[in-house]
Formats: sequence, C-alpha cells, structure tokens
Amino acid sequence: MYHVKSKKAEEFISHEEIEKTLAYADANKDNIALIDSIIEKAKLRKGLSHREASVLLACEMPEKTAQIYALAEQIKKDFYGNRIVMFAPLYLSNYCINGCVYCPYHGKNKHIARKKLTQEDIVREVTALQDMGHKRLAIEAGEDPVNNPIEYILECIKTIYSIRHKNGAIRRVNVNIAATSVENYRKLKEAEIGTYILFQETYHKESYEKLHPTGPKHDYAYHTEAMDRAMEGGIDDVGLGVLFGLELYRYEFAGLLMHAEHLEAVHGVGPHTISVPRIKHADDIDPAAFDNSISDEIFAKLCALIRISVPYTGMIISTRENKEVREKVLPLGVSQISGGSRTSVGGYCEPEEEDDKSEQFDVSDKRSLDEVVNWLIRLGYIPSFCTACYREGRTGDRFMSLCKNGQIQNCCHPNALMTLKEYLEDYASPETKELGLQLIERELENIPNEKVKKTACEYIHGIAEGKRDFRF
Ligand code: SF4
Ligand code: SF4
Repeated sequence: MYHVKSKKAEEFISHEEIEKTLAYADANKDNIALIDSIIEKAKLRKGLSHREASVLLACEMPEKTAQIYALAEQIKKDFYGNRIVMFAPLYLSNYCINGCVYCPYHGKNKHIARKKLTQEDIVREVTALQDMGHKRLAIEAGEDPVNNPIEYILECIKTIYSIRHKNGAIRRVNVNIAATSVENYRKLKEAEIGTYILFQETYHKESYEKLHPTGPKHDYAYHTEAMDRAMEGGIDDVGLGVLFGLELYRYEFAGLLMHAEHLEAVHGVGPHTISVPRIKHADDIDPAAFDNSISDEIFAKLCALIRISVPYTGMIISTRENKEVREKVLPLGVSQISGGSRTSVGGYCEPEEEDDKSEQFDVSDKRSLDEVVNWLIRLGYIPSFCTACYREGRTGDRFMSLCKNGQIQNCCHPNALMTLKEYLEDYASPETKELGLQLIERELENIPNEKVKKTACEYIHGIAEGKRDFRF
C-alpha cells in the first residue's frame, strides 16, 4: 500500500504505485491536453509529482520534448544562473564486504588491488587536491566494519579539515558511505560533514536483492530507509541517486521522485542533490552485461525532467560522463560537476600501474581541473568553488526557504565570482586566468543589487591583495 509518509521503504517506494504510475504514463503518453497542462504546471516552478513527470518521460512527441528542454534550460537559468559548482571525489578505501555485481570493489573480486589511505596518505592526497584548487570533496569508501569503521571515516574527515597548504583549504566534505545507524549519522553530523550522499542504485526491490546478493547492503529496507535515519541523526542535506542501467529507467525515475516526495513529506525538506550516474566499464565489470543501459538522448531527457520536477534540488554529474555528454546536459539543469577526478584509492598522488589497479570505474572525462575550468568559462559558465551555505549554517529547510524565495541568488552569484577569483589567483594557468578575469569583470555587472555589487567588488580586490575566504 502506497503511503508517502510511511517510514517503511516498501510503502513510500511502493512497487504497486510505480507500476500504476507507469501504466498511467503509457495510457497518457499521447494525451496532448494532459501533457500541455503538466508542462504549464512545471512552468510555475513548484515541481511535479512522480505521476506527472512520468507522463512527460513516456511522451515521445519531439515538439513536447523540445518544450521540456526549453523549460529545463529556463529553470536552470532562473535558479542556478550560469554557475557550475566544482568538486572532486576522494576514495579513502576500497575494502568492501558487499557483493554488488556492478562494482569492482565487491568482496569476491580477488584481482583488484585493495588499498586504504592512512592519515599520512590523506595529507598527501588532500594537499594534491588543494594544489589543484579544490575546496569541496566527496569522500567515498566501501563498507567494511573492520577496515573502514565509522571511527576511521571520522578520523579522515578531521584530518581533511585540518590540512592547510599555502592558500588551500577543504571547506566542505560531503560523505558517500554505506547506509548506517542513526547514532553513526549523528557522529557524521558532529564531524561537520556537508551532504550525506547514498545512491539507491535501484528502487526495484527484486532486482535490488539480485544485484546485491551478499553483505549488509542486501537489505533493501535498511538501505532505502537510510536517508530517514540520516535526517533523524541531524543531517539535513542528503543526496539521492540511482545507477542508471541496472533497471528500467522509467521505473527508477518514478522511484527517485517518490523518494524525494517522501523526504519532503516527512522531514519538510527534500533532497539537497540528485546524482545521475550511469553504469560504466571497470575491472571485472562489463556494462554490456546490464541490458537496461540508456542512450545519451534518454539520459539528457532524464536530466531535463529532474530539473523541472525538483527545481530546488542540485543535480550532479561525475566524470563517468565524457566531455560531449557533459556539454549536452549542463544547460538542462546540472549544477555540480567533478573535475580532474581520480576514482582510485591514492590516485591523486600516484598514477596507477596496470597490475595494481584500484579504481571504481573508468573515468571518461580525463581532463585536469584547469582544463575543465577553462572549458566551462569558454562555454559561458562560471566555475564556482563556493561552500558558503554550509559554513553559514544555511542547510536543510533554511537553505530550501532561501532557495524558494529566490534570495539565494544574492549569495550564489557573487560567491561564485569570489571563489573563482581565488582559484585564478592561486592555481590557474595563465590562459585560464586571463579568461577568468575577463569573465569576472563582465559578471560583476550582472549583480542586480548595488550594495551587493559594491561589496563583491571590494572583496575581489581584497583577494587580489592576498586576502581569502570572503563570502555572502
Ligand atoms: S558499490 Fe559500494 S558497497 Fe557495493 S561493492 Fe562497490 S564499494 Fe562496496
Ligand atoms: S551560496 Fe550556497 S547554494 Fe549558492 S553556490 Fe554557494 S553554497 Fe551553493
């Protein structure tokens, strides 16, 4: 029985409700009057329900898809401007006792090199990341109570926040670790993490159990209810995601939106971010073995529909996607991307030897952070290294209410320019610096509030004189 406010996974992600939603979407995929009314509703920028959004996903009329893309672009512009927030993943350990069949870290893979960073390794890795210019990290670790207990994760977070190298600092650590207890989520909150990210992988319970045959992750309910426990533990920014390719994408899309609706209904705040990873080649893993893989076209449509269905939720794409795909989906609503990523344990300091591989998946976008920043500027985007909200206590419903009344725009835009200025002064190549400085000059003129514009100009001059860490 479907019940959005239930605390039970099988009730808030009801299989029956998803089946009914897909049947409803099929029955109405050519219903122009209904489709037009849903698009009109989306224009109000208050989002769409999983049923409404599923009808748009099922609709194959090219002119309607064009309208959806145009609306996604408009909402992206209105809510996120031309800013793209930058981050990097940091793999702490690939020890894992789970049996996820799509991941090379699964416990039974005997030919992948198992590695775990010591605190000294972390200092080296984070120094390398700071020297690239990163300010925001997402830490990743497999599930292994012996090798990666919560105490290890907490110690790593403390180390990361403590490292200061030249003008570098990691100002926000997002955490992507296995589903855990309320008590452990409370400890993560106390360690001052940013967003807690956990991918559902698939919302289809039967497939989920087959894809996770062994280990604690096999428990669908424990995994699916993790965000409720995280919020109970005081973490109010949580990040959802599915691994597209495992199950039918229309099923996953409905499940994803139902999960977002559930968090909003129960906790008064929806997901902070949604990630859209697709299954990729890796050691021991052949993506062709998963017959639900999606085309670039469908991927782009999913991004556009997420944008119009949950306008206030940030959207993240990783370096799993190549430059061309990233270019295609950036205007459709993506708000965060990784740059210069390594998906192996210790990969920022030591390039991997063929026979000593520990990466989780092949990176499609192999460019350096400077190249990604340069490319974004040339495309007309402002690469942002902003972490201000979390540091100003603007999280959870505080963040969402600022977002919903549009006030966040008075922070994001100047903060993007100031953090880009820091990047250009400290880390950029001469060419990127030149391009970036021109961009900042142009974009300062686009700050509508005169007082904010004046202060931002003063701060930017301060950065040129060696001062750091200004924020609105
Ligand atoms: S997806 Fe995560 S839990 Fe599963 S095997 Fe890989 S690292 Fe372990
Ligand atoms: S001001 Fe807040 S919402 Fe805007 S980019 Fe910075 S951290 Fe993100």
